[in-house]
Amino acid sequence: MARPTVIAGNWKLNPPREQGEALYRDVVVGISERSLPANVQVAIFPPAPYLGGWAGSSGDLIVGAQDVASESWGAFTGALGAELLRGFGVTHVLIGHSERRHHFGDTDATCRAKLEAARAAGLIPVLCVGETEPERDAGETFDIIRRQLDGALEAQSVAEPLVIAYEPVWAIGTGKTATPEMAAEAHRYLRHSLREKWNAEFADATPILYGGSVKPSNAATLLGDADIDGALIGGASLDAESFLSILDAAIPR
Ligand code: PEP
Repeated sequence: MARPTVIAGNWKLNPPREQGEALYRDVVVGISERSLPANVQVAIFPPAPYLGGWAGSSGDLIVGAQDVASESWGAFTGALGAELLRGFGVTHVLIGHSERRHHFGDTDATCRAKLEAARAAGLIPVLCVGETEPERDAGETFDIIRRQLDGALEAQSVAEPLVIAYEPVWAIGTGKTATPEMAAEAHRYLRHSLREKWNAEFADATPILYGGSVKPSNAATLLGDADIDGALIGGASLDAESFLSILDAAIPR
């Protein structure tokens, strides 16, 4: 099955309202000015307050959440439940972003619970995996990403759609980018793991995005690799021109 190319912006805790609304408008207009091929998807993951107004009413633009609670409803002050998100038109959710893992203590078990809650509500999880610099230096990259993958997908059945983002932690927000060879090697390993654990059809249908200082200047090289199915973009997604120019690198001419 052909898998889509996905260009996704993770806005993190940015930007203030006026700028966010202008950015959103520019991205929506930019998408409408391009004829997006059917296999190219564009997504943004803005902070939660933006979701209600945009999710489900942004045309071709997918609007996703940056995190989800493992509980659906109830006495969980501050939590954002998957079914609630779904009710507001949200279709995708990031799970296990390294900032969630490092600042908020999300473990593989937490990620699994969140992933299962997202699935139960019909949301498509974008599972983020990636090694730290000391882990890469110690030659542990494959072990770490395999542990994160297996840990989150323990109860995953093959029929359910999934997106994976390989995001080496040392490359996020640092200006350091994995070389296309480093990224492709990790992507091939992840796809091999999906094939081994589930089956070839599921492995081939699952887009694996690269994230870590993707910019207009390096997007074409990264996206030119057959094993890199798109990008999860932090900093450069906060500027419509940069984000759209990364999108252009993903649109075949
Ligand atoms: C991210 O937040 O997922 C990310 C990859 O950030 P940046 O592009 O800024 O490195």
